[in-house]
Amino acid sequence: MEHAKEDLVRQRGTKKNCMRIVCPHCGNDHDFIEVADDVVITTRYVQNSDCSFTQTGDESQVMGEISFFCGECNTDLSHFHPRFLEMLF
Ligand SMILES: [Zn+2]
Repeated sequence: MEHAKEDLVRQRGTKKNCMRIVCPHCGNDHDFIEVADDVVITTRYVQNSDCSFTQTGDESQVMGEISFFCGECNTDLSHFHPRFLEMLF
């Protein structure tokens, strides 16, 4: 049991081989742009007793394509987008 626990700790401490997204055109690995087409933004409001409105929430829904670009040279990096989503926290 103790050995198993140690192994677990050691695994967590190990640096994962993270795959940085690098623009193949200019080498940029820092700035990226995500563009979503056809976004429906829904915002909820409540009307207060003094007739003013307060926003209580908003949700946006992407109906169209999502593209992913290099922030430096605007090369289309959309094939990296799934990996980008995995690494987005
Ligand atoms: Zn680039």
